[in-house]
This record gives sequence, structure tokens and C-alpha cells, in this order.
Amino acid sequence: MNNPYENAVKQLENVAKILKLDSEVVQRLSVPERFIEVNLPVRMDDGSVKIFTGFRSQHNNARGPYKGGLRFSPEVNEAEVKALSMWMTWKCAIADIPYGGGKGGVAVDTKKLSEQELENLSRAFVRAIHDCIGPEKDVPAPDMYTTPEIMEWMVEEYIKIKNEELKMKNSGDEMLATFTGKPVEAGGSEGRTEATGLGGVYVLESLAKKEDLIPEKTTVAVQGAGNVGYYFAKLAQEIGFKVVAISDSKSAVYRKEGLDIDKAMKSKEKDGSFETWKGGEKITNDELLKLDVDVLVPSAIENVITEENAKDIKARYIIEMANGPTTPDADIILSKKNIIVVPDVLANAGGVTVSYFEWMQNKRSEKWSKEEVFGKLKEKMVSAFEQTWEAMKKYKADMRMGAYALAVKKVVDAMM
Ligand code: NAD
Repeated sequence: MNNPYENAVKQLENVAKILKLDSEVVQRLSVPERFIEVNLPVRMDDGSVKIFTGFRSQHNNARGPYKGGLRFSPEVNEAEVKALSMWMTWKCAIADIPYGGGKGGVAVDTKKLSEQELENLSRAFVRAIHDCIGPEKDVPAPDMYTTPEIMEWMVEEYIKIKNEELKMKNSGDEMLATFTGKPVEAGGSEGRTEATGLGGVYVLESLAKKEDLIPEKTTVAVQGAGNVGYYFAKLAQEIGFKVVAISDSKSAVYRKEGLDIDKAMKSKEKDGSFETWKGGEKITNDELLKLDVDVLVPSAIENVITEENAKDIKARYIIEMANGPTTPDADIILSKKNIIVVPDVLANAGGVTVSYFEWMQNKRSEKWSKEEVFGKLKEKMVSAFEQTWEAMKKYKADMRMGAYALAVKKVVDAMM
């Protein structure tokens, strides 16, 4: 299914059958509560003005303010943003954080903008949507091609507008809570950088306990070595798991006895990819997915496990650290092969969980240490895993459907 929004609605309809939901509730949840489209005039370096189109989809706020990232990418479109906002509603419910779901973005190729143009665009987006966001309304965060620095420009612009409106000089930390994913020195939280990968490792640990896996004997292959893949691989290895493969967009490396992740990353930082690293055998990304390992961890991009390659997957467990790495057709094949897939809405919820901690710190004018953040993150992730596992058993479903059932039920209960 190519249209992600149709896909999201289909998943909702499947869960609705399991939960025996009223069709009126399903209708309400099938569409965002509000969808905003804005045209942004942006001053370019040559003095001209260019118009960019931006979106914000506010799916549901029954459990709290809308929450979700902002993407700056040429592919950003209405269907994608709507689907992602629905998935954020479920993710926040699974992580048990008091948020609804939102998502937004601007259709733009940031590689074609100068730093000044990027700043102008970021500020223009905030000027266009400032009435629709705020710490208790809607809390955006970084996503693809948006960075902590962009969040800093955005929150600055937001505070400027609100101070003018309220005729105040300094509205305090509270307004910083309008955006998360800010740099630490601009109101961000300690530990956000590692949060998603670390959250996934807590999920891996929980899974290992349920399935009696001994870390030292459990082999793990990680696709992707960006923020998520790198921290997942490094931190899983630190607690004893045998990480035997890792990749980037150009190449993958494999060593049966386990890789030295730090050395591999140092080599990649120096040469731009794993291609020149001698500490493992060179394989392709496709071969990585089909390795005979215990746990496969797609941590790069969407739709990598498909109808074509699902039959060749040998891992017993898949932990979806990337968003949407498995297509619905592949899911059916994996399920028939009894492969346990820990779905993205649970596995990568560590990022939004620490975003919630950032929001709390801003609202309370507090600063938590990294240890405190990681301790609270562990509690949340372990509890989300346990609840999803229970839901899977209760509804006699796979883990993805269990997670969705758990989430949709929480949201529906909050709507009543
Ligand atoms: P990133 O840009 O830091 O890293 C992406 C990695 O994927 C890079 O190593 C890149 O080389 C690799 N890659 C790109 N194309 C590839 C291909 N065709 N085959 C194999 N590898 C390829 O991104 P990230 O922040 O690590 O995010 C990765 C995934 O995790 C995305 O799906 C993102 O939506 C999801 N996610 C990220 C966060 C977060 O906090 N960063 C939170 C939740 C979900």
C-alpha cells in the first residue's frame, strides 16, 4: 500500500474489529481533528521571495497536547503528515505519556538552502502556525532534516511573538516547552541524543527476559548507523549483546564473533562510510537483513522489509527502531514464520519519552541529570513493553496489533 494515510486507517480498522469499537469512534479517529496548510513567504539570499508549503496535522488530543515532529523534506505531503500524526497518537499512548498525536513539515530540500534561508523558513513557519501551538496545545519537535538548532530558532520566534502579544519582556521557561529537542544550553534535556537508541535497548533487554535469551549468546544485526542505529548498537554491546553487523547507506560490515562498534564508527567518521574498515567482512545492506542472527534491528529508513525479502529473513526477532521499516505485506509473511516483530510505535518511543521529560523540565523550571533522565526512561520503556506484551496475549494478536489495541483503547477511554 503506497499511501501511508490509507495504510494507517486500515490498521485502525483492523484494531477496531479486535476492540469491537463503535463505528462513530472509528470515523472520528480516522481523520485528524485539525489539518493546517500554510504558504510561507521566505526571503532568499538573492533578495527574492519564495513560497514554501507547510503542514501541521493535529490528530487527537484526548490524552494531552498534540505531540510530534516537524519534517523538512521534499517528499512531505498531506497523506504522509496525516498518517504520521495518527501514529504519534498511538505511540504516545503506548509510552503512557500525556500527549496526543501531531506531525508537521515543510516541502523543501534543505540542501538547497543557505543557513540564513533555513532560519528564515523556520521562523516563517512559526509565524504562520503560532496560534495553533503552545505548551498545552501542540508541542512540535525535530524530525527528518530538522535539528536542535532549528528548534532553537523556532522557540525564539514563538516567544518573541507571544511576548509582543502579551506585552511582556520575559515570559519565563514555560514557553520553552512549546518545542522539544532543543539544544541542552537552550532548554533541551540531557540524554535526548541517546534516548531513542537507549529506549530500544531497554526493549531488547525486556524481550530477552521474556524469551530467556542470554545476551552474550544473542547475535544482533543493526541496519543504519545514524543517531538511532549507532546508539542502539553501542549500548546493546555495552550490556553484553553480540552485535555482529552494522551498516550505513553505502555498505555493511559483518563479523561472526562480534564487531568493535566504536572502532567501526571511528573509521566511518574518518572515511565517510564503513567501506574502508578492515574489522569485518563487507556485505550489502540486503545481505545484512537476511543474516542468520537472533535479532534484526532496522534503524535506518522505511519499507526495507518487503514482500520480496521477508521470506529470506532468518532472525527470530525484529526490533523496529526505524519508523515503518516493514511493509504490511511483509508483516503477514513474518507472522506466518512466527518471527516476533517489536513494532516501531513501542521500540522507538524513547525519543518522544525524553521529549516529554524536556517539556516537564521546562514547565517546572528544572534541570534533570542524565542519570535521572535514563532512570525514568527505563521505567517508562519497560512498563510500555510489559503492557504491550500483555495486550498481545490478551487479544491473541501479534505484537504490532497488541500495541495498537493497547494504544487505541487508551485513546478511546480518554475520549469518553
Ligand atoms: P539518521 O539520519 O541519523 O541515520 C540514518 C542512518 O540510515 C544513516 O546511518 C544512513 O547512512 C542510513 N541509511 C540511509 N539510507 C539507507 C539505506 N538505503 N540503507 C541502509 N541504511 C541507510 O537518522 P536517525 O535519527 O538515526 O533515524 C533513523 C530512523 O529512526 C528513521 O526511521 C527515524 O524516523 C526513526 N526515529 C528516529 C528517532 C530519533 O530520535 N532520531 C526517533 C524515533 C524514530
